[in-house]
Amino acid sequence: MSFTVFNFHPQIITAIEKCGYTVPTPIQQQAIPPVLEGRDLLGLAQTGTGKTAAFVLPTLQRLLDGPRKSIRALIVAPTRELAEQIHSYIEKMAHMTNLRSAVIYGGVSKKTQAMKIRAGVEIVVACPGRLLDHMNDRVINLSQVEILILDEADHMFDKGFLPDIRRILKSIPKKRQSLVFSATMPKEIRHLAEDILDNPATVQINHTQAAASITHALIPVEQRRKTDLLKSIIEQKGMTTTLVFTKTKYKAKNVAQQLENSGYRATSIQGNLSQSKRQQALDGFKSGTFNILVATDIAARGIDVSGISHVINYDVPDTAEAYTHRTGRTGRAACTGEAFTFMTAGDDKMIKLIEQTLGKKIARETVPGFNVDAQDRIDDEAAKRALPARSWNKKKTTSTTTAPKQNQHKRAQAVDFGVSTLSKRVGAVTK
Ligand code: AMP
Repeated sequence: MSFTVFNFHPQIITAIEKCGYTVPTPIQQQAIPPVLEGRDLLGLAQTGTGKTAAFVLPTLQRLLDGPRKSIRALIVAPTRELAEQIHSYIEKMAHMTNLRSAVIYGGVSKKTQAMKIRAGVEIVVACPGRLLDHMNDRVINLSQVEILILDEADHMFDKGFLPDIRRILKSIPKKRQSLVFSATMPKEIRHLAEDILDNPATVQINHTQAAASITHALIPVEQRRKTDLLKSIIEQKGMTTTLVFTKTKYKAKNVAQQLENSGYRATSIQGNLSQSKRQQALDGFKSGTFNILVATDIAARGIDVSGISHVINYDVPDTAEAYTHRTGRTGRAACTGEAFTFMTAGDDKMIKLIEQTLGKKIARETVPGFNVDAQDRIDDEAAKRALPARSWNKKKTTSTTTAPKQNQHKRAQAVDFGVSTLSKRVGAVTK
């Protein structure tokens, strides 16, 4: 199938060609025709499937005819990064048309956004909170909206935005085309979709499954040795563009700092940074100034950097969905990627859930020099059960160095995680 089947306007075709797209992705093949027909759509798809183009391209086509300087399409996204990414994509694809887009989110000047809207745009991409601010300030008029798109609706729900969404819905015409995209379908989103959509076409692409172009591996490691392991596999795998995920903002900053101190071109993006600092880090990663970006989950949804070769879960994520989103940053569109997850004692339960979601067992690998031995695992688990997290970390560190003699024999016995050795795949690992 080629893009010609959609009969896009030559201005849009030129933009598609400029992007180097030759074949529509499955979600584009299935979603573009009903959207062009003006039908509502429920798209069950995760990022990395080409879903942005699946709604942006037919939206542009539908807006080409019709008035200018009134907001005719509203796209709502849960994070600033995702909103910025969709807006940039629209600017790229609408370059030859005279359709304009404005992006709206918190953490930056309201005034600049208001000026852009007052100057006249046909498309607004917005995060719910700031959009409501502008609506309250009467800066924005949504009475002419013809197309409403909710992207990553499940994440919107996770972030508690559903009441905001319902408030926004009251200000847009009832007679409109609506598209809802979500990677998963919790019952709250199903109810929202039922309320918003009228006889929708439904498109489902690899529902909650990670992209097939990604290979996954788990590496058991002691908590305290994660940063050393990270440095080691970055070297061994010749990782070019690597996204590292940590659980906390502090860790993201700290790990990036440690990598930087060791001579790596690393930066971090996390919620404590101002919007301009976040953008700086992202731009630096996109342009190649940095080739390692350490991030918390806020970055997982919005980052569209082509050619991310590796995703490393420095910490196991809190949900299986987060795993899918994190690892979906690599292996995007036609590329392949690798995802490594550092696994410590106590992560087994979440790993099991992730494996259920993936529908397969993830290969366990060991990196020579980083074996987790049986007693570490016993100590880790016992200590984790007995003590609060803070003292567990302390005890664990000392227990590995001051273990009683009678336990030494157990230390020699490596835990059987059913592992293959990373060195088999990537050559010997030296520290
Ligand atoms: P998305 O799922 O929208 O975040 O898109 C993932 C990546 O796929 C983006 O970098 C897009 O530019 C790229 N992409 C979208 N459609 C196609 C296509 N038909 N062929 C090749 N790459 C594409």
